[in-house]
Amino acid sequence: MPTRRSRRRSLRPLHKLTLVLALALPGVTLAQNSADFAACMQKLQPQAARAGISAQSFAQFTQGVVPDMSILEKLNYQPEFRQPIWDYLAGLVDDQRISEGRSNLSRHGEVLQRVSAQYGVDPATVVAVWGVESNFGQTQGKYPLVQALGTLSCYGRRQAYFQKEFFATLRILQSGDIQPQRLVGSWAGAFGHTQFMPSTFERLAVDFDGDGRRDLMDNSADALASTANFLAKGGWQTGQPWGFEVRLPAGINTAGEGRRNKKPISTWAARGITTVDGRPLDTVVSSTQKAGLLTPAGAAGPAFLVFRNFDVIYGYNAAESYALAIAHLSDRLRGAGPFATPWPTDDPGLSRAERVALQKRLLDRGHDIGEPDGLIGSKTREAIKTEQNRLGLTPDGRAGQKILRALQ
Ligand code: CA
Repeated sequence: MPTRRSRRRSLRPLHKLTLVLALALPGVTLAQNSADFAACMQKLQPQAARAGISAQSFAQFTQGVVPDMSILEKLNYQPEFRQPIWDYLAGLVDDQRISEGRSNLSRHGEVLQRVSAQYGVDPATVVAVWGVESNFGQTQGKYPLVQALGTLSCYGRRQAYFQKEFFATLRILQSGDIQPQRLVGSWAGAFGHTQFMPSTFERLAVDFDGDGRRDLMDNSADALASTANFLAKGGWQTGQPWGFEVRLPAGINTAGEGRRNKKPISTWAARGITTVDGRPLDTVVSSTQKAGLLTPAGAAGPAFLVFRNFDVIYGYNAAESYALAIAHLSDRLRGAGPFATPWPTDDPGLSRAERVALQKRLLDRGHDIGEPDGLIGSKTREAIKTEQNRLGLTPDGRAGQKILRALQ
């Protein structure tokens, strides 16, 4: 808990931030200090009561909460640097995550078998989601949820959406599933091993170990079963693959193709698509099954035929790169290798360990980039740019194999 003094100190620069945001963004509600926040909470209380939160619970769980205005900066953040998909996947599906995923598959084997039997989702898929969402429970976020969602309920864009999540948070606390001091997560409200939003928790979290609490913060059995339940409710087809990598014929036109535009395998076969080792598609999957053609980096990169289960993974977090990371990690956990077709780049991405190694090299060369944490932020990118300039490389600030090798 921050002391009263540190809270007060932290409010001064926030005041300025509010004004900056208000000038920069139409529709921002001006609320300049915690008194305004308290007034906002007071205004929300009757709505909370209609949403099933007793006056006593509301008072108890919102007492002493002050807004965290730094969250609005995150809400409005526009990344100036768009990560190529090969960087995204290199960080999410790296050797360390594959090896930790395999350990977890075996460590939680008994629970995963029971989860699989009950929900129809295989262990590797469940563990892959776990690994991408929270690094197997190790990265769950550090923002107190009541504070984060309370702030987003009173300031900034999408207040109506965040108010619903705020009320869900208070109901979770009221139900006793999770203790108030344990309920921390991302700045936007996703929390626990599964990184569910509070409303998702209410709909889909399950108490798998039978202790009477749905605990996605500290109970891996509840977390694994809740993940499987999410996928099952999303329409997971038991025993079906997410899809598989394919080989495209030269000159194929992939315009208009994608995850949603599903066609029978026979149609894809007729257009010259084969398995990566050149076999006809109907040797690995029924020719009547429908699949969409996914080419995340264009026809020159890896290509995939994806089935319904890929869409179900996509439903967890609506981004195709995200779904592909989980799908691929699940294959790797089952023993498969990397993609057969390389990404169309001469400068592949870095694993988390390589990102740390690169940051250490940059520190060695005197760049003040802080602790090497494997997260490539603006300081690291600036340092990379300086080194790229010195070495005669394209100064794009990107953390790739070329700059790592050049500095080793
Ligand atoms: Ca439980």
